[in-house]
Amino acid sequence: MSRALSLQHVATTVLVQDLPQSRAEIAFLGRSNVGKSSLINALADQKGLAKVSKEPGRTKALFCYAAGERGATVVDCPGYGFAKVAKKLRAGWLPMLEDYLLQRQALRQVVLLVDGEIGPTDLDLAMLDWLREHEVPHTVVATKQDKVKPSHRERRRRELAAASGIEAHAVVWVSARDNEGLTRLRELVREWLG
Ligand code: GDP
Repeated sequence: MSRALSLQHVATTVLVQDLPQSRAEIAFLGRSNVGKSSLINALADQKGLAKVSKEPGRTKALFCYAAGERGATVVDCPGYGFAKVAKKLRAGWLPMLEDYLLQRQALRQVVLLVDGEIGPTDLDLAMLDWLREHEVPHTVVATKQDKVKPSHRERRRRELAAASGIEAHAVVWVSARDNEGLTRLRELVREWLG
């Protein structure tokens, strides 16, 4: 098991301009309940760091964590989750999040979480299209690998990647429950944050 990421909460804000200065930043994005808080907690090996949500979709702020000692940051973005968000997403979903993703100079990579058991939802696909259209660098991480039977995993990997329009090897599979895939994802995070 690799060394946990050092993450320390430094700000919660709905205003992009109120985010602390950053040298390099990555953002975690995904629909509510995809396992984002659990994954951030697992990467940092700190149980209570990001709240594991009891009420999906309630958190609408950007949560900013200092990553290590050299001025890098990790941002936990609001989960998208309600049907009514789908229309807004197509029409310019959550101006705050758009502003953030398009204007944040330090942003190096968006980590887009997709539920590994159920695959990309329409909302996930709309988000992926949006990221591609705006040329925002992103990586798909499939969560809850433990929920897919080991004998089905190879096929599920291919299906999820095909549905997302990317190569199977480009998807990072994780399980926050079983601590699977964390070494690879931590390595990538360290690379992105340089
Ligand atoms: P968020 O809304 O995206 O922050 O999702 P949470 O981290 O709050 O997780 C949503 C639900 O999925 C919770 O009931 C978690 O316990 C569960 N969950 C998260 N990660 C995993 C995982 O790797 N495996 C399994 N089996 N369940 C998970």
